[in-house]
Amino acid sequence: MRKNKFENERKKVLVTGGGGFLGSHLCEKLLNENCEVICLDNFYTGSKQNIFHLTKNPYFEVLRHDVCFPMYLEVDEIYNLACPASPIHYQEDPVQTVKTSVHGAINVLGLAKRLNAKIFQASTSEVYGDPFVHPQKEEYFGNVNPIGIRACYDESKRCAETLFFDYHRQYNVFIKVCRIFNTYGPRMHPQDGRVVSNFIVQALKNEDITVYGQGKQTRSFCYVDDLIDGFRKLMDSNDSITGPINLGNPIEFTIIELANLIMKLTSSKSKIIFKDLPQDDPKQRKPDISKAKKLLNWEPKVHLEEGLFKTIEYFDSLLSKENDLKVNL
Ligand code: NAD
Ligand code: UDP
Repeated sequence: MRKNKFENERKKVLVTGGGGFLGSHLCEKLLNENCEVICLDNFYTGSKQNIFHLTKNPYFEVLRHDVCFPMYLEVDEIYNLACPASPIHYQEDPVQTVKTSVHGAINVLGLAKRLNAKIFQASTSEVYGDPFVHPQKEEYFGNVNPIGIRACYDESKRCAETLFFDYHRQYNVFIKVCRIFNTYGPRMHPQDGRVVSNFIVQALKNEDITVYGQGKQTRSFCYVDDLIDGFRKLMDSNDSITGPINLGNPIEFTIIELANLIMKLTSSKSKIIFKDLPQDDPKQRKPDISKAKKLLNWEPKVHLEEGLFKTIEYFDSLLSKENDLKVNL
């Protein structure tokens, strides 16, 4: 990387999708570690509100840009998070979702290759699809419907992983690929349809809690601080550790258990209603994190109740602002 001779020695880090839920927490963490951070985002699902509190920091820079187009920057490390992540968001414009994952990966990998920079990919447990192997280990190749409504996300994330490993094998690019399992916390989008945000908003408004199917499907929920800690450990790990590596909380809950817990924590008067299960909705999901434990000395610390409590506080204050302004957030 070309250095500006007047520049300080801070590590320069690019975070694509830095205006989103996970990206904003990552930018914050990197700034706290004295990095210089470039947050690149087209604000398709992210928001400036998520990063507003960081904008006074002189080492933070925001770049409105679409990862589908090449970018010319000088950085030491790259985290690639740009991609809509919730089913209703990634299914809104499926072709664009594929372009973001695939063209986006090619562009950030090209940048990493030119700069000889380490590059991190936010992959997903969706690469396992509706899994036959439980809990999911990194060696499992998955069970993905390539033509279903989730495929634009699942298959393009799988293709992005392929590109990461081919750039590694063909051009010696230093890669770090993590597979993220359902993560929640403050700054989730209140209307992105994900189960934790949906249930909390519904419970706080005393509206019906919409459980899809019979609510017997399972997910394992990781609090955002734990996940970001895992990101940092993976990025700083030995160059020989490429991943893919699962990052998530291995404690599994049914969706109906989650609904009941959120109603209890919010003292809600809501009632549960049942709606159709969306097509290809995975029946069970739980990460095997033995690799992350062994290679990164990482495991989640925040219990679901504790994490939900902080998330509920966040949505409560967001809804109070909504009431004050009489607008829909
Ligand atoms: P998010 O939607 O809050 O963040 C994604 C960010 O990417 C947004 O700020 C959005 O505006 C930006 N973006 C989308 N398309 C872009 C484009 N073409 N160019 C530039 N920016 C673009 O979602 P999130 O939950 O923060 O997810 C971040 C990453 O982590 C995603 O890649 C997602 O696939 C992955 N992931 C998240 C979870 C989870 O539970 N949150 C689980 C698995 C994987
Ligand atoms: N879900 C639900 N009610 C909702 C939103 C989601 O029952 O209002 C279910 C959904 O069908 C899935 C699980 O919760 O089985 C997790 O959904 P989410 O969209 O959060 O994540 P993903 O399916 O991508 O894991």
